[in-house]
Amino acid sequence: MNAPVKPSQLIKGATGDWEVVVGLEIHAQVSSNAKLFSGAATQFGGAPNTQVSLVDAAMPGMLPVINEECVRQAIRTGLGLNAKINLRSVFDRKNYFYPDLPQGYQISQYQSPVVGEGEVVVDLPDGGSVTVGIERLHLEQDPAKMLHDKLPSQSLIDLNRCGIALMEIVSKPDIRDAEQAMAYVAKLRSIMRFLGTCDGDMEKGSLRADVNVSVRRPGEPFGTRCEIKNINSIRFIGQAIEYEARRQIGILEDGGKIDQETRLFDADKGETRSMRSKEEAHDYRYFPDPDLLPLEFSQAYVDELKAALPELPDAKKARFIGDFGLSADDAGVLVSERESAEFYEAVLAGLTDKARDGKLAANWVINELFGRLNKDGLSISASPVSAAQLAAIVDLIGEGTISGKIAKELFEIVWVEGGDPRVLVEQRGLKQVTDLSAIEKVVDEIVANNPDKVAQVAAKPAMLGWFVGQVMKSSGGKANPQAVNDLLKRKLGL
Ligand code: ADP
Ligand code: MG
Repeated sequence: MNAPVKPSQLIKGATGDWEVVVGLEIHAQVSSNAKLFSGAATQFGGAPNTQVSLVDAAMPGMLPVINEECVRQAIRTGLGLNAKINLRSVFDRKNYFYPDLPQGYQISQYQSPVVGEGEVVVDLPDGGSVTVGIERLHLEQDPAKMLHDKLPSQSLIDLNRCGIALMEIVSKPDIRDAEQAMAYVAKLRSIMRFLGTCDGDMEKGSLRADVNVSVRRPGEPFGTRCEIKNINSIRFIGQAIEYEARRQIGILEDGGKIDQETRLFDADKGETRSMRSKEEAHDYRYFPDPDLLPLEFSQAYVDELKAALPELPDAKKARFIGDFGLSADDAGVLVSERESAEFYEAVLAGLTDKARDGKLAANWVINELFGRLNKDGLSISASPVSAAQLAAIVDLIGEGTISGKIAKELFEIVWVEGGDPRVLVEQRGLKQVTDLSAIEKVVDEIVANNPDKVAQVAAKPAMLGWFVGQVMKSSGGKANPQAVNDLLKRKLGL
């Protein structure tokens, strides 16, 4: 059970507080080379209408043949969502007319989906979490793509997308604000990327969401929902929910009622607009597709797929916390994207002493590396500093060869010039001075040159920091800070 909504999640209306209720239907394109019922290629960006089989074009007499790989990916996704896998499911025809659908129906799953109820734990920016129930996951065909802005008075159609496998993942109405909805989509995307079942590339349309929004007084039954169709950015999903909730509250507070309808989100204006009302809603006349047998597989097959699943974000996070003492926040940041988790694991693999420096390595990945990548607008795959190079830098700190401060200089050198961090430390004389007599010389100098400060320090021990700073400065940051501290305390009689 989730905690009750917090006051900060409620929206203040003119007549009191309102609670937002959201359920999402996510359409995720399955990562597979061929389409759901044909052998045509699925690659993005091909010249229009070059990846179309006779099945996709709905030529008379063509028969669909199920692509086993798409089924495998759907089952693996279901397992990643801790969901019930149905050993028998049925493909139905969802009948409607639209130019992007040459068959005149979409092959989908209605009463009997391949995946049933499941659950996803979603971490929130404030450190809390919310569990979102999964209602179902079913397989269906993607329609074709219409191009309305290429010619002044005609629309064009590209059948390349037609028949690509989609997983529709339907959540329960367990989401209570825009932030939770955005975090939920990010988590689903991350799970599918870890699994390799959907690339999650929203700009290319491989992940789109229909967003159902209603509002109610806290504790009251659910209100009437509106469904905002086909949003392809996490930020827009958040904006659409904020706008739509306030629109509905405005209507209710004016004494009106909400009509169940389908709306679209206009990203330029930041508002939702009506597309069609419930009265105009389609009657799809679903019936089992006579060209396809029910989809059946064995529990042994499911068990086999389950045993071969990669480690998923939640398990990885727990392991990072347990093995290396990372904070939940840091571990969460590292596992939020597959690339960052893999990079961190590659750094770990390069460390001489993982147990000693695993946490330090996490700090360096999160603070120095991510910070630097951000500054240059680079993705992690384009990082000029490799995992092996970063591991070497962390090794050098961990073993006491260089200080953290020098390490930052070294990182910048490696970032700009490349090279082996160990060799660079030798060549440029960056080694930390741990030779006590050398440090003592500097300490004595500073103490001798500042008799006034020495006189004050007994009464104001916090001034020790000033002395440490001076010694570090005159050693070019290379003195071992612990040795400096110890020596100063002794010399100053603290
Ligand atoms: P439909 O096909 O009519 O869109 P579905 O069952 O496919 O219906 O999807 C319903 C979606 O709407 C689910 O994600 C569900 O969680 C969500 N939902 C249902 N009732 C409400 C409500 N009152 N407020 C917000 N979302 C809701
Ligand atoms: Mg729907």
